[in-house]
Amino acid sequence: MNSRIKRLAVAALATATATLGLTVANPAPASAAMTICYNTSQAPSYAGIANQAASIWNNATTNLTLTANCGTNLRIYQITGGGSYAQRTSLGNGRVYIDTQQAAQYSPLRIMTHEIGHILGLPDNYNGNCAILMSGGSAGTSCTNPYPSTTEANRVSSLFAGTLSANDRRSSTGSQVFKDSWPGLLSVG
Ligand SMILES: [Zn+2]
Repeated sequence: MNSRIKRLAVAALATATATLGLTVANPAPASAAMTICYNTSQAPSYAGIANQAASIWNNATTNLTLTANCGTNLRIYQITGGGSYAQRTSLGNGRVYIDTQQAAQYSPLRIMTHEIGHILGLPDNYNGNCAILMSGGSAGTSCTNPYPSTTEANRVSSLFAGTLSANDRRSSTGSQVFKDSWPGLLSVG
């Protein structure tokens, strides 16, 4: 082959190789895993609890990773009175408020994993079953289970994988406030 054709062939091969290399190096996943950066600067008493809750969710689910203080997808606050609650702005984004008075009555870790569950797309499910994380305070103050059930964890994984129907996703990922998960006890005095 003459030198000009040879140069063209080499150039074409280089382009093909580069394209192939790019494809191999950067496979396009069906859905990229989301990193949810949570910030505990406004909840100094519960930073350790938040880390434990993040580990529980990270171990139980796929397609998302909760990471401490790398950003502010999720801001965690501690408040006094008014009740713990979650304010989701979109899937994986929002705010969690931990009521210090409730956290002295109910398991603070269960409260934290429950409220983060709302940010991850789960609704309340007040069925009184301690094995269900989203049953919240309906399971009573003696329930300290901080782990989502397999059904709850799989639901979160599916939401973040984007494999649920559009209707199902819409009802689980929109802006919503989740209050009154932890019934107040009679105050003393
Ligand atoms: Zn709740």
